[in-house]
Amino acid sequence: MRDFITVAIDGAAASGKTSTALRIADKYKFLVASTGSYYRAIALKMMKTNINSDDISGIQHFLGKILLETKIIGNVSNITVDGKSFEEKELRTQQVNKNVASYATIPAVRQRLLSYQRSQINEARTNGFRGLVMEGRDITSVILPDADLRFFLEASAQERLSRRENDWEYDYTAERDKIDIGRTIQQNGVHKIDTGTNGLDVVVAMISAEVDKILSTQGQDS
Ligand code: C5P
Repeated sequence: MRDFITVAIDGAAASGKTSTALRIADKYKFLVASTGSYYRAIALKMMKTNINSDDISGIQHFLGKILLETKIIGNVSNITVDGKSFEEKELRTQQVNKNVASYATIPAVRQRLLSYQRSQINEARTNGFRGLVMEGRDITSVILPDADLRFFLEASAQERLSRRENDWEYDYTAERDKIDIGRTIQQNGVHKIDTGTNGLDVVVAMISAEVDKILSTQGQDS
């Protein structure tokens, strides 16, 4: 029986990544890392410090002096910046929704978050979780290309927009799609799942079937 596994989930804005990752984490006692919240936290902190997304040297200076740490609440990994954690509602304001993707295009920002994201494997292991499920845009391709399981969630732009509208949130999904497009690339060997036609329970069952196969594999602990 495997003692630890990694699951990577990618997809566009509002494709169902976070809800799916949370359900998988609950079911299997995995730690869940929603990497969009990391980008949101850093973008928020920069906006509060009046550093614009076109101020590359200001961004580099900022990134050089901040301390990124992890605070685990339940089975969710939360980023802290200089010891400060962030409430969900702070990370999902109109201002953050609108601007986060522009900050996320900056290579220095992505580089700073690369090792931080990878460090979540160790966070999960040392805190006694049976695995890590990480979701974002480049998790299957850049951050955890060797994850035990990799999934790509798809849904039409209209479907994704209406999901956020149902939550009474304008999340700039179409605008962010345009900026994020180059990053949300589907890789070979990644399981594609349509979350427009398959409801959350079905999506969770599809992923669970693959997790169960790996968990029952003998003698191949990672
Ligand atoms: O997942 P969420 O929609 O909260 O992500 C917010 C933004 O963070 C995305 O629109 C994208 O620009 C950026 N992001 C990213 N890479 C990730 C996760 C999020 O560039 N792995």
